[in-house]
Amino acid sequence: MVDVSYYCPRCGAVAELDRDARLADKSVTPFPLEGWSYASASDDYEADEWDGVKLVCGEGDASWSHPPDTERDDAPGCGEPFFLNFVRFEDGEEVSGSPESEHVRLAEGMGPGGPRGPSGPGFSR
Ligand SMILES: [Zn+2]
Repeated sequence: MVDVSYYCPRCGAVAELDRDARLADKSVTPFPLEGWSYASASDDYEADEWDGVKLVCGEGDASWSHPPDTERDDAPGCGEPFFLNFVRFEDGEEVSGSPESEHVRLAEGMGPGGPRGPSGPGFSR
């Protein structure tokens, strides 16, 4: 198991999830990808039937914290859902997947000074 941090694409709050190192993360999006099925953080999201995890910012079984470099006393999270997408393969080929709505960049694309992207095995760019 590895600890991986995910950033809310809306507010930058950080969720920490334990997950199997064999799972490869594809992206984090504010909308579900077409064809992906999502578990919630309290489900067995590492089971083969799931292609990703739906997180509700600030809620659920993940542990949440404010974006780095912020000092706030209120609870982190904007209450909006976002979606962690695992890499999917069909017939040995990676499925590219397209967001059902607008495409957003990964959190690490937020630029200098922004939150750093997730780290850990499974992330190689
Ligand atoms: Zn948020």
